[in-house]
Amino acid sequence: MRFVTEYRDAEAARRTAAALARLTTRPWTIMEVCGGQTHAILKFGVDQLLPPGLTLIHGPGCPVCVTPVELIDKATEIAARPEVIFCSFGDMLRVPGTSIDLFSVKASGGDVRIVYSPLDAVTIARDTPGRQVVFFAVGFETTAPANAMAVYQAERLGLGNFSVLVAHVLVPPAMEAILQAPDNRVQGFLAAGHVCTVMGTTEYEPIARRYRVPIVVTGFEPLDILQGIHACVRQLEEGRAEVENRYARSVRREGNRQAQSLIRQVFRIVPRRWRGVGEIPASGLGLTEAYAAFDAEARFGIAGSRPEAPSECISGEILRGVKKPLECPAFGTRCTPERPLGATMVSSEGACAAYYRYRRAAPSLRSN
Ligand code: SF4
Repeated sequence: MRFVTEYRDAEAARRTAAALARLTTRPWTIMEVCGGQTHAILKFGVDQLLPPGLTLIHGPGCPVCVTPVELIDKATEIAARPEVIFCSFGDMLRVPGTSIDLFSVKASGGDVRIVYSPLDAVTIARDTPGRQVVFFAVGFETTAPANAMAVYQAERLGLGNFSVLVAHVLVPPAMEAILQAPDNRVQGFLAAGHVCTVMGTTEYEPIARRYRVPIVVTGFEPLDILQGIHACVRQLEEGRAEVENRYARSVRREGNRQAQSLIRQVFRIVPRRWRGVGEIPASGLGLTEAYAAFDAEARFGIAGSRPEAPSECISGEILRGVKKPLECPAFGTRCTPERPLGATMVSSEGACAAYYRYRRAAPSLRSN
């Protein structure tokens, strides 16, 4: 339990919160980028320990939440084919597309399987040569190395029946898009420790400089987050805007070079549409020319994008930090985890799901 209990120490959290209160002289707004951090903040009540005027807003760091409707539609279209075994992480099955989700396809007889690793899908392809096996490659930089490894392995094994539907997104371009938006409120960021474990911290340095915004890399336990907020507020109060690593037990400035090399070998940077946000240039990963044969969109002839259908779901504004889940009129009534209208209510890292689980009985917090 080392590295869990010591980062959940209530007395240490109270001391850090007291130091934060002494440090804070004016209102600040900080965005935690990662959905895992959002859940920890709500679960442990970190936001309730903050001094008045210090506001946390929740960012777009939930890969399930930002996968656009058009890609869910492509997934359901491919998964419904009789020759296909469609493999996905469990979270994706209940994300609504335009009319159906992957669970509906499964209920109608489609061969949709939950896997815990993309390499499981490679194994299924190897053991089932008569069927087409498609893996739904969703995620940020954290899952990109494993997904790249799956494609690399499939190529080495000569598997002609394996392909990936790629929905990878990248964190730094999304942060820049948030900072460039006219309604931006973010003055400092908490960056996600697991993403930086893979990618390092250097790509955040130009963002901190260009937008004069502190970026503090931190972890996922309550004390990690409080210490990250403290470091971010210290920079804001002192007029500094630097990249600061407060997750040194996992993150190095250069990141994991082997993982980065594998990502570069298999994937290239492409524009990507984000659910509720729209297209962000150079914010996604697609397959390189050398691995283009593993592209499920091309293999099944469904390339091309479709417009996002209008919806009462305001998850786009939530993912940009403009609104909070409790401001959505559908929250907890027309939209619940059992009957979600948007991906932020589906995912275990989604902000709406976090508020539903930890805060729906606390109307006094609605103005926070
Ligand atoms: S509560 Fe539901 S409808 Fe409202 S923003 Fe969240 S996911 Fe969308």
